[in-house]
Amino acid sequence: MSQSNEASNTATRQESYDVVILGGGLAGLTLSLQLKNSNPDISILILEMRSNPASVAGHKVGESTVELGSHYLREVLGLKEYLEEFQLPKHGLRFFFTSNRKDDISSRVELGPRERLPVPSHQIDRGTFENFLVLRNKELGADVLLGARVKEVDLLQSDGQHQVTYMHQQEQKMVKSRWVVDATSRAGILKKKLGFQKPMEHHVNAVWYRIKGVVDIDDWSTDEKWKSYLKPGLRYLSTVHFMDKGYWVWVIPLGSKNTSIGIVADPAVHSFDDINTYEKAMKWMAINEPLCYKMLEPKSADLIDFLFLKHYAHHTGTLYSSDRWGVTGESGAFLDPFYSPGTDFIAMNNCWLSDLILRDLQEEDITVRASVYEQSHLSLIDNWIPVYQNKYLLMGRTQIMVVKILWDWATYWSVPSLLFTNKALTDIQMLKELFSTPTSIGRKFGLLNKKMQDLFLDWAPYDNEVFSSRYIDPFDLCLLRDFQYGIEVKHTPAQLLQKIEANVDVLEKFAAEIFRHISTYVNDTPFDMKVDPYAICLTSKTSRSLENENGLAVDPFVRKDVEVMWFYKKKDIGPRDCTICQ
Ligand SMILES: Cc1cc2nc3c(=O)[nH]c(=O)nc-3n(C[C@H](O)[C@H](O)[C@H](O)COP(=O)(O)OP(=O)(O)OC[C@H]3O[C@@H](n4cnc5c(N)ncnc54)[C@H](O)[C@@H]3O)c2cc1C
Repeated sequence: MSQSNEASNTATRQESYDVVILGGGLAGLTLSLQLKNSNPDISILILEMRSNPASVAGHKVGESTVELGSHYLREVLGLKEYLEEFQLPKHGLRFFFTSNRKDDISSRVELGPRERLPVPSHQIDRGTFENFLVLRNKELGADVLLGARVKEVDLLQSDGQHQVTYMHQQEQKMVKSRWVVDATSRAGILKKKLGFQKPMEHHVNAVWYRIKGVVDIDDWSTDEKWKSYLKPGLRYLSTVHFMDKGYWVWVIPLGSKNTSIGIVADPAVHSFDDINTYEKAMKWMAINEPLCYKMLEPKSADLIDFLFLKHYAHHTGTLYSSDRWGVTGESGAFLDPFYSPGTDFIAMNNCWLSDLILRDLQEEDITVRASVYEQSHLSLIDNWIPVYQNKYLLMGRTQIMVVKILWDWATYWSVPSLLFTNKALTDIQMLKELFSTPTSIGRKFGLLNKKMQDLFLDWAPYDNEVFSSRYIDPFDLCLLRDFQYGIEVKHTPAQLLQKIEANVDVLEKFAAEIFRHISTYVNDTPFDMKVDPYAICLTSKTSRSLENENGLAVDPFVRKDVEVMWFYKKKDIGPRDCTICQ
């Protein structure tokens, strides 16, 4: 496998292809690779607007990967060796919460792994990676045409093929194909043409920039105790989040020895106009994250780029058509970068889409599959929205956010990651078992998560304390350790179903115990009450009515886990002034 920053252009070799991919970013290039890996004879043309090799560091966002997306890149696409040699290993996500002394990083509550997580992930320099993917695709026989701007797509012409019109070297050209895939991200060529845009009620803005050189936050304090929480060099490899009400700031190291910095902010708290230039962003940082400002401002001369995106979240009404077209990556939907899930969604998207393409090319009728995959994908997005929606308002509440992040990791590792690594997303029987009736395990999982996400919002008026100087490792919780270790375990379909059911049982107990803790503090309910996790609600009346015999009793092991992440002493909180719900 070769690695180079050169990505020279090629001409199209054919008038017609099996697959024409519009847009050669991460989604389009990885889809092509996946198809070529599965069937080297497929003819593919990628039309990419960018005419030059992508620049190192200052190319795109999407640098931090997590378990599911990393598994896709390493195992499904076979890029493990490349990633280990040319990109950085990642040391998980790391969170620093609000503090009365934000200028002292060692005083902030810190959440992140101490030891290397068993499931690997990477920090990716997107320019370097996309240049590599172009070359890799060419090596496998795909045609990649740089400097090709797609103008029009005419679906299903009289000859049964799609026709794509594009500009290349000032000439208008046309190419035919059996399949056409839109991977043009926010250009959304098919979405706009066919009108399947869908509103997304989650409005957050982001700005980001890259600077030359390494930023190691381990150097941001001389406190020996704080430094000793984990081995030298590991904090540097994490995706670092500094958080407070309405925002988080990211620091991501890149393999090209540069650093990516971003501010992601809810406009209800932090106006976009206060951050949308480098100068304004630094001014904002001086006020909201003074230590970041102190450590980063002296590097202003090393600025590589500065970019922004207003209201980045968007939805889609359609993803896959049995008329042999589909969308992948951000040309479909995008929710939020808080847990770095962009590559995860591309991975799932490409697995569904490539399965449809491969089956169709083997002359299988894909009508039912296209519909099942689309419903599964759309409900996955819809179930994921509450993870982010209105949650930026909670980012200044340390106790809630610690519990929420650990809950969100638990759900992510125990169900979607496991389904993905076991290739269950394209197993129709499995999808039926998981989602066909309201009491199916997949639907229960979605409902349970929604209940918990609502609970976090209801809890807000009661969580006002600013905590300090604590370190929490997700592996301090046995259930999280088990879920993480379980991600890459291979199961037969029957075993997998049992495992998912067992994991959801654990999640139910986890939800019940979290609720028990919160409700005891807020409503003085008995600490050993039985709880129905699907009925949890914090209003006093409902909370008390949960003391019924049908609920889940205390599980001592799960209680121990919840106590690890519980900061309040018994009964030391109560309702106080709250602006969050107003
Ligand atoms: C603020 C922010 C932070 C993020 N952080 C992360 C993260 O840490 N980790 C993560 O996994 N994801 C992250 N994401 C998501 C990530 O950026 C996307 O998932 C990913 O870049 C989408 O890839 P894509 O291929 O769909 O789009 P792109 O990579 O943008 O590719 C689209 C391509 O289409 C081309 N194109 C557009 N129009 C045309 C046309 N008419 N003709 C030909 N070509 C065209 C463009 O040149 C481009 O190369 C983040 C997103 C945001 C907004």
